[in-house]
Amino acid sequence: MSEEKIRKTARIYALQNAVQFNGKANPKAVAGKVIAILQKEGFSPKELIPIINSVTAEVNQLSMDNQTRELEKIAPELLKKEKKERDFSLPNLPNAEKGKVITRFPPEPNGYLHIGHAKAAIVDFEYAKMYEGKFILRFDDTNPENAHLEFYDAQKNDLEWLDIEWDEEYNTSDNLDKHYKLAEQLIKQGDAYVCTCDADLIKECRFNGKECDCRIIEPGENLDIWKEMISSSIEGSILRLKGDMTCVNTAMRDPTLFRIIEKEHPLQGHKYRVWPTYDFSGAVEDSISGVTHPFRTKEYELRDECYFKLLDLLGIRKPHLMEFARLSIEGMPVSKRKIKPLIEKGDVTGYDDIRLPTLRGLKKRGILPHAIKKFVLEQGISKVESSVTFGLLEAANRKIIDPVTKRYFFVSDPVKLVVDNAPEKEKKIDFHPRDKKLGSRLIKTKKDFYVERSDMNNLNIGEVFRLKDLYNVKIKNKNNQISGEYIGEELISDAPRIQWTTDNYVRLSVFIPHILYIGEKFNKDSLEKVEGFAEESVASLKTDEIVQFERFGFVRIEIVDDKITGFFSHK
Ligand code: ATP
Ligand code: MG
Repeated sequence: MSEEKIRKTARIYALQNAVQFNGKANPKAVAGKVIAILQKEGFSPKELIPIINSVTAEVNQLSMDNQTRELEKIAPELLKKEKKERDFSLPNLPNAEKGKVITRFPPEPNGYLHIGHAKAAIVDFEYAKMYEGKFILRFDDTNPENAHLEFYDAQKNDLEWLDIEWDEEYNTSDNLDKHYKLAEQLIKQGDAYVCTCDADLIKECRFNGKECDCRIIEPGENLDIWKEMISSSIEGSILRLKGDMTCVNTAMRDPTLFRIIEKEHPLQGHKYRVWPTYDFSGAVEDSISGVTHPFRTKEYELRDECYFKLLDLLGIRKPHLMEFARLSIEGMPVSKRKIKPLIEKGDVTGYDDIRLPTLRGLKKRGILPHAIKKFVLEQGISKVESSVTFGLLEAANRKIIDPVTKRYFFVSDPVKLVVDNAPEKEKKIDFHPRDKKLGSRLIKTKKDFYVERSDMNNLNIGEVFRLKDLYNVKIKNKNNQISGEYIGEELISDAPRIQWTTDNYVRLSVFIPHILYIGEKFNKDSLEKVEGFAEESVASLKTDEIVQFERFGFVRIEIVDDKITGFFSHK
């Protein structure tokens, strides 16, 4: 009786462990669980271990499908327990209090968002949630040369797709009057001056640590020139912070705070011609909007000194500025500055090209928002600059979609195969080997099939393969017409299983994205188009459905002009 009880308990946990780890249970892990349970009932590890080892070995002989089926029968509750996930929660913020944390995401409305923005937005949003605080979406639209109306809404759509919600939204350009007042304050205090030197001279002086003549003009006179700069059409002047022209941190050598940009602004029209730089508007907005923990990417580190100096001189609240490394992905341009020229030159098809790390590109190839979140939080908020591979995002996505995605047959580069003595069949094939709930389809087969050319090339006459989920075939002829012979249905363990369609197929093109850059060089072969035949039931798929083509990979479906097109997500 007692041995039977041990065997039963061991079997359950061996099955659970096997299902979690690709069909192979680890006897030590199983022993840990079983001993913990049975020791309480008076069994000793010494009597338990040999039985556990033998049961685990038995379980490891089973196929994963059988392991799953059995576990579902005897302990379904354990099947639901997912593999333990690493905890990707963010570290605590310094000087943070529940209910009082305010974060912000400040995109410039000059393009669609990419996965680097997703990192910033997700970190900001998650921290606000973690501290039950507030999350602000702020459009940093203070460069009318860059800001475009379409991008305000487009960026909001991108964020909504990521499931990010903001408590407040505003545009920095709505606050320009406030910025002008603060600029005036700096001028009156003698902390800022209008500089009319030309760009080359300014550069030279900065390089040599030399002050220019504009610097000594009295505040009163500066204020007059500033007012003229705002209201009239004088050209070529900028407002500069009186920093330190000999500072080792060159960012402090009288940085520009305002400059003239005579261009219609998408929201403000021609109301303003003098616009703040990021140094000024970034610091001022973080302060006056109440943000407690603004994040910036590390490349701004040298500008932090300017950020705090400005807030000091203005006498306004200083937030706790935080930094993290920019997200970089090998072979991918994670920056609007790099993405834009690719689109303009026509190297990619648009902002939603599946080779791009834009949120629209990722969406198009079937990467889910939740996978992006997982991936981004996995990277954490370290300051160490590093480039990760796209494979990490693929892995996060695969983990989510694999258990819930229907599997179909797709044959790329198809060749015809005739099975001479083929029995006519109506075969019900499950859409997923481990989840019956995903349903099945009925496929009628006769003697004509399509299979992949490369699969046939790998087989010699006389060799046996299995038409997956159907039956075994022995190759008879490979000359003009590939033909084979039906040789039964019993599973043969070492026969290759290949996917197939009948002559009732659907034509399909699948676009496969490859890396955009090899080193620094644009990869001209980065977008591959594969043509093939898919099984008939693929015809009823709808746009946005993600499926797995067996032995091919995951593909997002799009119906374009009544034609089915696939976009390859990953293996
Ligand atoms: P880009 O080169 O793509 O234009 P940017 O920093 O100029 O980058 P913004 O729209 O100004 O783009 O950025 C909004 C926010 O997103 C900023 O807080 C910025 O730090 C962050 N961000 C942008 N790119 C990345 C990235 N690759 N990794 C992490 N954060 C990023
Ligand atoms: Mg920018």
